[in-house]
Amino acid sequence: MRDCKGRFAPTPSGDMHIGNAFCYFLAWLAARKEGGKLVLRFEDCDTLRMQRGAAEQTMSDLAWLGLNWDEGPAPGEESGPYFQSCRTAIYDRAFDELRGRGLVYPCFCSRQDVRQAAAPHPDESSPVYPGTCRTLSGDEIRERSRLRAPAWRLRVTDETVEFLDGLYGQQRCAPAAEKGDFIIRRADGVYCYQFTVALDDALMGVSQVVRSHDLLSSTPWQIYVQRLFGYEPPAWLHIPLLLDDGGRRLAKREKALSIRQIRRCYTPEEVVGRLACLAGLQSGPEPCGLEELVPRFDPSALRREDIVLPPDFFARCRE
Ligand code: GLU
Repeated sequence: MRDCKGRFAPTPSGDMHIGNAFCYFLAWLAARKEGGKLVLRFEDCDTLRMQRGAAEQTMSDLAWLGLNWDEGPAPGEESGPYFQSCRTAIYDRAFDELRGRGLVYPCFCSRQDVRQAAAPHPDESSPVYPGTCRTLSGDEIRERSRLRAPAWRLRVTDETVEFLDGLYGQQRCAPAAEKGDFIIRRADGVYCYQFTVALDDALMGVSQVVRSHDLLSSTPWQIYVQRLFGYEPPAWLHIPLLLDDGGRRLAKREKALSIRQIRRCYTPEEVVGRLACLAGLQSGPEPCGLEELVPRFDPSALRREDIVLPPDFFARCRE
């Protein structure tokens, strides 16, 4: 059996909110319950979306909550760097390997081209790629490259990806039928989320991924990439989303429920107690310490439905 290693994988595009904290809280408990370690990795490939200072603020917020990690951006980096923006050489190597194996090809289609050429698909926003550029000749590629830089797609086979999620159960996906060949490197050279996450989790030795269920549908792509390189995928635990008291998804731009704001009005134990209550680890929001929750953590106490924050849960932030 592999040693247990979990991870926090924030995107430093703004202040961390209570929904992010809920996810990291559960990732921390799941790893510590197994006597495991945690790695902190910042997903900042798409540098234009990032906010200056957000990574430092996130580290400060995690530390304030007591959600410590064993590997991350600090001296003694073991399997770093821990900022994706500094890992391009690693992604380049993996990309070159796939290219050498004939598994990627340049694609010159615009989004509109794909939409128009694709067969009708229930999810309009991500139609199945019809394979337009799959068989371009060398000359055609050279010709088109003069006009625009290509994105790069991974050739997917007909295989089905199956995996067991710790909360949502057995999952099944046929990548070729659901999306077709997918982009792993954009035309501007930025590597795509599914590719970088899959590689980083594998290269950093992550054996357990705990994250919100909005990423459940991304998991087969990540498994697909990991298998191409012969990596063993981690165990998956997708968790419900925390919604605001109006039932809306929390967003980084709304400041009221950011940890930065909550820190002004609550102690770490008060916040941890509330998170524990939301996770079904205690019946009320009484303050409590993280360590005492470790033996009590039980993923099966989680419900699959999204969790709506009770209206007055962080009332002091509004005063
Ligand atoms: N970076 C993503 C986020 O902050 C999480 C990605 C993942 O957990 O795989 O939402």
